[in-house]
Amino acid sequence: GMNRFSTATAAVEEPISPPVQINYTKLLINGQFVDSASGKTFPTLDPRTGEVIAHVAEGDTEDINRAVSAARKAFDEGPWPKMPAYERARVLLRFADLVEKHSDELAALETWDNGKTYEQAATAELPTFVRLFHYYAGWADKIHGLTAPADGPHHVQILHEPIGVAGQIIPWNFPLLMFAWKIGPALATGNTVVLKTAEQTPLTALYVAKLFHEAGLPPGVLNVISGYGPTAGAALASHMDVDKLAFTGSTDTGKIVLELAAKSNLKPVTLELGGKSPFIVCEDADIDKAVEEAHFALFFNQGQCCCAGSRTFVHERVYDEFLEKAKARALRRTVGDPFRKGVEQGPQIDSEQFDKVLRYIKSGVDSNATLECGGERIGSKGFFIQPTVFSNVQDNMLIAKDEIFGPVQSILKFKDLDEVIKRANATRYGLAAGVYTKNIDTANTLSRGLRAGTVWINCFDVFDAAIPFGGYKMSGHGREKGFYSLQNYLQVKAVVTPLKNPAWL
Ligand code: NAD
Repeated sequence: GMNRFSTATAAVEEPISPPVQINYTKLLINGQFVDSASGKTFPTLDPRTGEVIAHVAEGDTEDINRAVSAARKAFDEGPWPKMPAYERARVLLRFADLVEKHSDELAALETWDNGKTYEQAATAELPTFVRLFHYYAGWADKIHGLTAPADGPHHVQILHEPIGVAGQIIPWNFPLLMFAWKIGPALATGNTVVLKTAEQTPLTALYVAKLFHEAGLPPGVLNVISGYGPTAGAALASHMDVDKLAFTGSTDTGKIVLELAAKSNLKPVTLELGGKSPFIVCEDADIDKAVEEAHFALFFNQGQCCCAGSRTFVHERVYDEFLEKAKARALRRTVGDPFRKGVEQGPQIDSEQFDKVLRYIKSGVDSNATLECGGERIGSKGFFIQPTVFSNVQDNMLIAKDEIFGPVQSILKFKDLDEVIKRANATRYGLAAGVYTKNIDTANTLSRGLRAGTVWINCFDVFDAAIPFGGYKMSGHGREKGFYSLQNYLQVKAVVTPLKNPAWL
């Protein structure tokens, strides 16, 4: 019933005033904050109320052109790719220190613009952001080429060079972390960047980009453009002077940017796209832990995670117990003002996502899944949705096939391992999977059988800097984080020289 949310609703009606000021709303091109060429701005909204937070300069083709020329010049002539790698590392480290120093304001800004809880932003995302820059700073001076044996008397050097100007397009669900995953490896390897933020969440990237320049980043190395996808985003993806594109967002948009890249200059593209990740609870699992982890796997960040565990498969022998506990856990979930301490769930990002999630809930009900709890909006303004659990979900239902991107858990029943592997893999996606079992053989069978870029066993959403992340199938191309992400930003050049009278080859 709605009573449980009475406190939350009150909190929503009187939003807590965010402890931060908005100082940066312009485009960042060549180290300067500038207005857009058109002079246009667009509003960014507070998801708690739907009210305008700030008006932000709206970048379009001409601004992308200006930013790409700045990045081109910084790459071709500037000091950044040519300076000793350890000096680049020092800039990244100084930047990480500044972000750490301003963590509280950044977390507040992230919560204000996105609706995620302040606690999550401050205690998980900001430290992870800082850690990522430490990690990539560590790589900067450890990137080097190879030599290779030749069939004849030749000396073969294999050089790893920066690829040039990187275009990067990020989504709104983790504005700061997506910035870090993209910018860290690109700058550590000596590239220059034009980054387009998501139109829903432009604020924190501008703030940290300012800090990057305070840390000594030369002008033009990092340019940040706020703006919409079909305008600024498309201009970046199709730009002839952009050497590499990295995109995170929906699978539909991933197809568009891949096509734009192909139709322009064939720039290589990495894609982090959607998912419909299975979370498999085996009969021998610790049920209480599995309930909590499956809850976290789906509801974390308001369910707005590309790798959300959005198909909870539960073994038939433990299904009833699991279901009862999962429902109780969802009913205990606290929803409210994300600035309020103890609140676990804030609002969805915007009215579009809010409407979409409610449509999927209706489709679940219409297709005769059992609505165990939730299913409705909370309050009358902002984009709050009740934690929702469906049981009796069948594989062919829309809620079991599509990415909902909201606080909606779908619970499915299975009988044996072969069956659950087949059903878990019967999706066009392949981003991640969760497994709960105490049996090492079961864990090995599932981790090898599941077609997904990450398999978390007895855990979920562990995102350490060194762990590569990315998708099989239509969840994407390539990997981010870890050593693998460096390759996205490096060219490989073979240099071959004859060897005169070598002692050996
Ligand atoms: P989206 O793919 O439209 O947006 C992601 C980024 O792409 C944004 O910066 C956007 O401005 C840009 N973009 C949009 N159209 C573009 C175009 N034609 N050319 C170039 N860039 C373009 O995602 P969305 O509309 O914000 O969300 C829709 C759905 O995408 C969500 O419901 C969810 O299913 C999924 N999503 C996935 C992730 C993820 O991490 N994989 C993140 C956000 C959203």
